[in-house]
Amino acid sequence: MNLIVLIKKSSVELSLKKVGVMVMKELTGRIVNIQKYSVHDGPGIRDLVFMKGCPLKCIWCSNPETQSPSFQLAYNSKRCIGVESCGYCVKECAQEVFTINGKNNIEMDRSKCINCLKCVNICCSKALHVFGTDMTVDEVFKKTQNQTDTWRSNGGVTISGGEPLLQADFVTALLKKYKTVGVHTAIETTGYAPWERLEQVARWCNLIFYDIKILNKQKHNNYTGVDNSVILQNIKKLTEKFPDIEIIVRTPVIPNINNQEKDIINIVKFLDGLDNLNDYELLPYHGYGSSKYLQLGMTYKLEGIGSLEKEPIYELNQRIRKMLNLRKKV
Ligand code: SF4
Ligand code: SF4
Repeated sequence: MNLIVLIKKSSVELSLKKVGVMVMKELTGRIVNIQKYSVHDGPGIRDLVFMKGCPLKCIWCSNPETQSPSFQLAYNSKRCIGVESCGYCVKECAQEVFTINGKNNIEMDRSKCINCLKCVNICCSKALHVFGTDMTVDEVFKKTQNQTDTWRSNGGVTISGGEPLLQADFVTALLKKYKTVGVHTAIETTGYAPWERLEQVARWCNLIFYDIKILNKQKHNNYTGVDNSVILQNIKKLTEKFPDIEIIVRTPVIPNINNQEKDIINIVKFLDGLDNLNDYELLPYHGYGSSKYLQLGMTYKLEGIGSLEKEPIYELNQRIRKMLNLRKKV
């Protein structure tokens, strides 16, 4: 009889294969962060699981660390104690990614990095850190399980990102696990995925937050990097086929991009043709994630753009809710 073991780590896998043990890999998901006690992403107090990887590259993205599906090395210069007192990263990196820039600080040539993460392990101040960790369904579940009291207070779990549908099998397995213990489940999605993936995941959701950012195709392409046809087709199918799921469409309102009333009204006209929509939320722009761009060596194209006044956006939102006669009455 063959011995079959279930494992997660590939180094262990190789050793086991050498001694003739049949190895089955346990399903893992690549996670950026698990945030507790959120009150903005669904009913009650919730745990938020941020998945890594997104097919869109919105220029206002406040979670740039979730865009790439790969592990990402980040450097927070404010935490660095300086090369004179430390400098271990410069000595440790065989790829010569780090150079000293003369101000007791380091510079990085990320194109040379092979993601061995030796520098992260040696950095005592955590100035160097990595975004992304692979976890099994049980590991994520256990990390959130101590929240049972908040789950009982009508909270739950919301899977966000990045784009959860990029890791549809893992997310489905995770949502199923929560469902088996009666926990309220939600996802936040761009809707940019094959319909089959959305359908597979939706079956295990109580609530879906669905982004429609810009209706004009060319403009959508310019600011997010993808065409919106699939997104618009998927929301139509979703509202038709899953009338029992609570569906909330969201639009982030970004200065000089989609903050004119006509931009929003275009979306509202589209939404008017949908059945079973519960709510429509306008989310005023904020630039909270801008420092993470620097840490990742990315450019934040909206640097210096001020926030929008919230009150007019909330008023417009209330008018739209009435116009659309949404299921969730205001
Ligand atoms: S190892 Fe960390 S703390 Fe030390 S110089 Fe490098 S980044 Fe700074
Ligand atoms: S991850 Fe490895 S290759 Fe990349 S900078 Fe750190 S030590 Fe160098």
